[in-house]
Amino acid sequence: MNVPVERRLLAGWGRTAPTEADVALAVTNEQVAEIVMAAGTRGVVGRGLGRGYGDCAQNSGGFVLDGPSRSGITDIDLATGEVTALAGTSIDELIRWMVPFGYFVPVTPGTRQVTVGGAIAADIHGKNHHVKGSWGNHVSSMRLVDGRGEVRDLSPSATPSEFWATVGGMGLTGVIVDATIKMTPIGSSLVSVDTDRAANLDEVMRLMVEGDADYDYSVAWIDLIAKGSAMGRSILQRGQFADRATVVAGGASDPLAYAPHKLPSPPDVFPSGLLNRASIKAFNELWFRMAPVRRRDELQSIEKFFHPLDMVDAWNRLYGPRGFLQWQFVVPDSAGEMVRSTVERLSKSGVSSFLAVLKRFGPGNDSPLSFPSAGWTLALDIPILPELGRLLDDLDDDVVGAGGRIYLAKDSRVRPELIPAMYPRLDEWRRVRDKLDPEGRFHSDLSRRLHLI
Ligand SMILES: Cc1cc2nc3c(=O)[nH]c(=O)nc-3n(C[C@H](O)[C@H](O)[C@H](O)COP(=O)(O)OP(=O)(O)OC[C@H]3O[C@@H](n4cnc5c(N)ncnc54)[C@H](O)[C@@H]3O)c2cc1C
Repeated sequence: MNVPVERRLLAGWGRTAPTEADVALAVTNEQVAEIVMAAGTRGVVGRGLGRGYGDCAQNSGGFVLDGPSRSGITDIDLATGEVTALAGTSIDELIRWMVPFGYFVPVTPGTRQVTVGGAIAADIHGKNHHVKGSWGNHVSSMRLVDGRGEVRDLSPSATPSEFWATVGGMGLTGVIVDATIKMTPIGSSLVSVDTDRAANLDEVMRLMVEGDADYDYSVAWIDLIAKGSAMGRSILQRGQFADRATVVAGGASDPLAYAPHKLPSPPDVFPSGLLNRASIKAFNELWFRMAPVRRRDELQSIEKFFHPLDMVDAWNRLYGPRGFLQWQFVVPDSAGEMVRSTVERLSKSGVSSFLAVLKRFGPGNDSPLSFPSAGWTLALDIPILPELGRLLDDLDDDVVGAGGRIYLAKDSRVRPELIPAMYPRLDEWRRVRDKLDPEGRFHSDLSRRLHLI
C-alpha cells in the first residue's frame, strides 16, 4: 500500500468511547480511493478535526481517513466570494484567508476547529440558521470518492439526491475530497451585539420570538441550575456584522483585521468531577451577574462573539477522563412547552451544565439526515453521571413525541430504535447511499451503534 497508516486510539470531543482504528494519511484522491478499495468488512470513514462529540468519526477495527492530511485552499473568486478548499481545510483557515478580503464563512459552529468535510457531513448550523440555513445550503459543489473508489462531482442542481444524501450523511456516502463554498460578504470583522439578560425561560423565549427576525445572529446561554421563578434565566446575545463606516468612525484603522488569541491548554490531568454541580453553579452565577441587563451596539470580535471556547485549546480535558456528553435536540415551534418542561426537569434533577444554549432554527433543507428544522433547539454539555442515561432516555421520548430529533454529530447514547421516528426520511437516504456504496464500504462506530445502514 502506498499510503502511510498509523494505528490510533480515536475519540470524539466528549472523550467517552475511544476505539482503535488504522488512520490513513492519504494526500491525493488516488490514495483516498486506494484506502476505500482496501477497506475490509470493518470499512472506512472520513474524519476531520474530531469535533463531533460522540463516535461519528471513529471506526473500531477499520480504516479512518485523516482529513487534515488533505487541507488547503485551491481557488478563490473574490468577485463572487466562492472558495474551493480541500475537505480537511478548517473553518479557522477559511476565516483567516477570507476575512481580510471582506468575506466570512456562511455558517460557523461554536468552534472554528471544524473541517469543510466535517461541516458538510454533519450539515452544521450556527447562530444564523433562522436567516441562512445550514452549511449545505452554501455548498455550490463538492467531489466525493464513492464506494467504488470513483471521484464524483456532486451539486444540488446536477445530482440532487447524491448531493443532499452526502450533506448531513455523516461520512457514510463516501469521502468528500473538496468543495466549493459561497462565503458571505462583510463590511468589517466586528459584530455589533445587543445583549439582554432575561429573568427566566419564558422571558428569553418571548424575546427570541419577538425579535430574532431583526438580527442575523442570535443565541441564548441558559443557566440550567437556577430554579423557581429564575428557572431558565438567560443571557441573550444577538447581532450582525458592523458596517465599515461604523467601525472606521469608532477609530479602527483596519476594519477587516482578524487576529484570534489562544490561551494555553489545560493539562490532561484533571480529575473527573472537577466540573461538578458546585463549581458549575458558581460559574453560572458569576456569568449571569457579569452580563449587562441590557446593552446595545457593543462591537465584539469574531472570536469573542462566535468562538469564545476556542480561546482555551483542548478545554474538553476539564471534564477529566470520564468525559462528558452533549445532548442537543430540535422540536417544532408548536412544542415550545416541551422546551420549558425539559429545562424544568433538568434543573430539578440535579444535572448541571455550564454550556446550555438555546437557538431558533428556520426551515430545514433537502437533506434527509440534516438535523436542523424549524423550531427550538437546545444544546447542553453534561458531565457523565451514573443516573444520566435514564433521564436522557426519557427526554428523548419526549423529543420524539414532540416531532423532534437529536443531533447525530453530537450523540453518543441515543437508543437506535428512536432514529427512524426522529429521521423519517432514513430509508430514502439509505437507498441513495446504497447506490453510492453498493458493497457497503463506509462504516463508523456511529453507523453500527444506531443501525444507520
Ligand atoms: C465546542 C464545539 C462547539 C460546536 N458547536 C456546534 C454548533 O454550533 N453547530 C453545529 O452544527 N455543530 C457544532 N459542533 C459540532 C461540530 O461542528 C460537528 O461535529 C462537525 O461535524 C465537526 O467537524 P470535524 O471536522 O471535527 O469532523 P469530525 O468530528 O472529525 O467528523 C464529523 C463527521 O464528519 C464526517 N467527515 C469528516 N470529514 C469527512 C470527509 N472528508 N468526508 C466525509 N465525511 C467526513 C465524519 O465521518 C463524521 O461523521 C460543535 C463542536 C464543538 C466541539
